Amino acid sequence: MRELLRVAPGGTVDLGAVDPGSTPGLPGPEVTGERRKDWARRQVELVGAELGRQQEMLFADAQARAAGGPAGGAGHRVLLVLQAMDCGGKDGTIKRVAGAMNPLGLHIRSFGPPTPEELRHDFLWRIRRALPPPGYVGVFNRSHYEDVLVARVDSLVPERVWQARYDEINAFEREQAAAGVTLVKVMLHISYAEQGRRLLERLSDPRKHWKYNPSDVDARARWADYQAAYAEAMGRCGTDAAPWHVVPADRKWYRDWAVAHLLRETFDTLDLGYPPAGFDVRRERERLLGTEGNAAGERQVNDR
Ligand code: ATP
Ligand code: MG
Repeated sequence: MRELLRVAPGGTVDLGAVDPGSTPGLPGPEVTGERRKDWARRQVELVGAELGRQQEMLFADAQARAAGGPAGGAGHRVLLVLQAMDCGGKDGTIKRVAGAMNPLGLHIRSFGPPTPEELRHDFLWRIRRALPPPGYVGVFNRSHYEDVLVARVDSLVPERVWQARYDEINAFEREQAAAGVTLVKVMLHISYAEQGRRLLERLSDPRKHWKYNPSDVDARARWADYQAAYAEAMGRCGTDAAPWHVVPADRKWYRDWAVAHLLRETFDTLDLGYPPAGFDVRRERERLLGTEGNAAGERQVNDR
């Protein structure tokens, strides 16, 4: 999936050529003998269990290094960057895919309009502060790419400022990759029609009004400008150190299936394993067994 969905580095992306309703890489019904949707959902659960195992190894590995283990260094981190138009499914993806992992090892951050304090700093300031620590899987719900998307479309800064940001982003991501952050950048690609349906659904259900933001319709009115800004951002910042992927996202079950696989394949490249014990296992076993029949200890346990 990483190769299949990947944006070619240095190239321009023709988002119009990617059908948001398509399901690249998904085996056909003849392979599974059941509805693709049900099959994909079941696969997400299976892959999710594997993601949980990989995350645990990532965490354990970083703990062992921090304790002075033989591997040295600080340990890896994985950072999933999610970008999408409104209703693109970032929240659902986080719930279903990241949700398969242990919440203790996740570092999820969302980026809204910059606060006055954030505006006093460089656009990457708040991003650096939000990076996952070693051993964690980070998820960015929106990211520094907003600074070449909404900032460009809404002219929040002069053109020369956002133009310079592509190179700044590439330098920043190169630096992070060298520091052990494995970036997985994903655009959830929905169609104009599907966004319309989802927005209407939010308006039609009082339980979903809290998700609706009147400004979403303003962004929708600038759809073509946003698609162009996305294409340029992914073309210019889709690097070997930090590749971009376009995931067709009109079908939620395909979206989850694809992102789960992207993460799993990313973990595979890290070749993780459980770290060896930093103590003498046999000796510890003997010590522990030696505490059996310790009446004082037993009484304490029984009293609890
Ligand atoms: P979402 O739309 O991501 O599902 P939300 O609407 O609940 O979530 P908000 O707190 O409103 O979340 O933040 C999202 C909004 O913040 C988006 O409209 C986005 O364009 C805007 N935003 C994010 N980063 C920036 C930025 N750097 N500059 C300006 N606006 C930004
Ligand atoms: Mg919103």
